[in-house]
Amino acid sequence: MRKNQNALISGASIAGPALAFWLKRYGFNPTVVEKAPALREGGQAIDVLGTATEVVRRMGLLERVHEFSTGKRGTSYVDADGRARATISSEVFNGVGAGGDTEIQRGDLARMLYEATHGDVEYLFGDFIAELAQDDNGVHVTFEHAAPRTFDLVIGADGVHSHTRRLVFGQESQFIRHMGYYISIYTIPNFLNLDHWEQDYNTPGKVAGAYSIRENTEAKAIFAWASDQLDYDYRDVESQKRMLAETFADQSWQVPQLLAHLDDAEDFYFDAMAQIRMDTWHRGRVTLVGDAGYCAAPLSGQGADLSLVGAYLLAGELAAAAGDHTVAFARYEQEMRPMVDACQKFAEGVGTWYAPPSNTMIRVRNANVRLLPYLPWRGLIGGAPQKVARTVVVRDYAA
Ligand SMILES: Cc1cc2nc3c(=O)[nH]c(=O)nc-3n(C[C@H](O)[C@H](O)[C@H](O)COP(=O)(O)OP(=O)(O)OC[C@H]3O[C@@H](n4cnc5c(N)ncnc54)[C@H](O)[C@@H]3O)c2cc1C
Repeated sequence: MRKNQNALISGASIAGPALAFWLKRYGFNPTVVEKAPALREGGQAIDVLGTATEVVRRMGLLERVHEFSTGKRGTSYVDADGRARATISSEVFNGVGAGGDTEIQRGDLARMLYEATHGDVEYLFGDFIAELAQDDNGVHVTFEHAAPRTFDLVIGADGVHSHTRRLVFGQESQFIRHMGYYISIYTIPNFLNLDHWEQDYNTPGKVAGAYSIRENTEAKAIFAWASDQLDYDYRDVESQKRMLAETFADQSWQVPQLLAHLDDAEDFYFDAMAQIRMDTWHRGRVTLVGDAGYCAAPLSGQGADLSLVGAYLLAGELAAAAGDHTVAFARYEQEMRPMVDACQKFAEGVGTWYAPPSNTMIRVRNANVRLLPYLPWRGLIGGAPQKVARTVVVRDYAA
């Protein structure tokens, strides 16, 4: 007999709806609570690579993911006058375009996962877990708005600043590891007339760029910069916009034009690039999935992949253990840990490539980019994200 039918998932972005999908497939009864009043749009284009592509295929969503592919062909690293100093194709860079792997807008993927589940999964928008207490009978949850309920299991899929993690494991400061960079992204008009293309402009420790989306009808402005400071209010959007504008105030290329759209940016995203490192992701009847448990930072380029694979493994192990969380949570950690370790390690080296710390390093990076297609070992460099994305091979779990 299956135990623990009723699961509450906190967070409806990538990990939450993906987990709800698989739990429902295996006969569980998931409920998803999301703090935002509606599904959150926005964010960067994300790569769906390797094992995550296989997971999406098993969900029956691969064709749909391809329909929404950004189709980005490559990136130019430009100088202050907009001249390309180095150019690289997406396929050489990270294998996107090969073997079904693709790049898609984060918001499109989130919507797709939501649409695949909302017909038979209960979603509570505009609410969150205020308190929870667990005993042998379940997890007793008090919501901010809805009436209290008891669930068999609770899963935190509420991102890098997870509230579920804080309630169950304690303060974020114990687990967060700053990578030394900030990132910000928002939608702009495609005034650079980019054609499925990205342009990046570097100054020491900083990168400002833009890439076209939605068949070149729009673009995203993207900024990243080195900073040791991790002291900012991740809920205060106006001060984040000010921080971004001040950091890039003295820049040339098209930076002033990119910043001119800051005030109107409705999907503004800003965060310190940070990792979450925990010895264990479960305590009793509660566990974590995605960024909440093992954020690898945007530098890894694999946050969505980790969420998709983690959700698949967690639901699969629960099904395989007939709902026994004492067995399933430990097996999920065992299966998932190698991919998490590989992604977190991979991210450590990416910052100096993306935002080199000096003009010399920028020139060295550009020279490497120019040479890459001709190097016999180009597969080793371009194939590195692919290798990381395939760290885990997923097995079939009986439905
Ligand atoms: C709007 C948005 C934009 C993003 N943009 C980028 C980007 O540009 N670049 C990048 O690398 N990564 C971005 N991310 C993070 C990226 O989505 C994740 O790294 C990755 O996809 C893993 O997803 P996740 O589902 O684990 O966590 P997340 O995508 O962070 O999702 C967490 C979800 O939990 C919700 N939530 C938060 N607190 C609570 C709470 N107390 N109760 C209930 N729900 C809660 C959030 O609203 C969100 O929907 C963005 C995330 C969001 C939500």
